[in-house]
Amino acid sequence: MSCFLNPQLCRLVPYTPGEQPQDRQFIKLNTNESPYPPPPEVMQAFTQTEMESLRLYSDPQATRLKQQLANQYGVKTENVFVTNGSDEALCIAFMAYAKDGRGVAFPDISYGFYTVFADLYNIEVQKVPLKEDFSIQPQDYFDLHKTIVIANPNAPTGLALSLAEIESIVAHNSDAVVIIDEAYVDFGAESAVQLTKKYPNLIVVQTFSKSRSMAGARLGYAIADAALIQDLETIRFSINPYNVNRITLKAGELALQNQKYFDDNCKRIMQTRSIVQVRLKELGFTLTDSKTNFIFAKPPKNNAKQLYTQLKEQGILVRHFDQPRVCDYLRITVGSEQEMECFLKTVEDLL
Ligand SMILES: *Cc1c(COP(=O)(O)O)cnc(C)c1O
Repeated sequence: MSCFLNPQLCRLVPYTPGEQPQDRQFIKLNTNESPYPPPPEVMQAFTQTEMESLRLYSDPQATRLKQQLANQYGVKTENVFVTNGSDEALCIAFMAYAKDGRGVAFPDISYGFYTVFADLYNIEVQKVPLKEDFSIQPQDYFDLHKTIVIANPNAPTGLALSLAEIESIVAHNSDAVVIIDEAYVDFGAESAVQLTKKYPNLIVVQTFSKSRSMAGARLGYAIADAALIQDLETIRFSINPYNVNRITLKAGELALQNQKYFDDNCKRIMQTRSIVQVRLKELGFTLTDSKTNFIFAKPPKNNAKQLYTQLKEQGILVRHFDQPRVCDYLRITVGSEQEMECFLKTVEDLL
């Protein structure tokens, strides 16, 4: 049998997204979506007029959304890059800054997509081991002379570096691009966006998927020095200038107008997180100090995989990673108060 695929891609192992079951109602605590809907303003994106306007292409410059994001962060529109989910921003940044033989470095335990992007482009990877307690040691990333990618807070550990620690990494790599993936930053960590004004080698990536309840809309963005954004735009315009659809752009603009709804939702999720953390500790779980909308927890009887399966049978989906070091843990998205109550009751029964 002949293989038509580019031989370089023949062995590519794609990213495995968390399950999105279409057949049965689960309590979904497996993909870090928000349990709360987008703000009511977003519904206005789906008017008859907007739907009719789908005959037109979307704004390839995402002008209004860029302006709003620029205002929010006190940067210029030339510092903002808007993408179809933040995965697209990361994918383009890997292509831009690591594909040329420089190589890329990221923690050995982190977001699974980084390895996939590196494989996709044939980029050499240096995996920097986390410490025993899953923490990142900033010094491990000093002067690596290659592109650096760090999720802050990290996934699936939930641990965050301080702004000073992030700055030390950026400052000690002035000859390389440092990408900080802040998918979970709104749940209690410090954002590095303001550092982009001081460091021309820093890209901060954020998303509407988690804290802004819009995973299904696919909207992400990056903030960086204008020269870096220009590079990313050149690539984007060489792939798909209309990467974000009209409805999503509109929904993003409307979502940003309701800061209070956003703040309240983040607070509520953080409160639920602490309540669940206390209860899980009482049940004998070992936890990390999560600054995200998920809890990374090791069950008392060391039976993470079994517990994952049992929970699934009971209609509750969490995430289990079959990898060394993390296979003893479950990653549990912080859902609504009711969902978490149900989760805790079920766990109690199973234990
Ligand atoms: C969820 C997630 C993303 C990407 O999400 P998008 O839906 O593509 O915006 C990126 N990085 C990390 C660490 C994530 O957990």
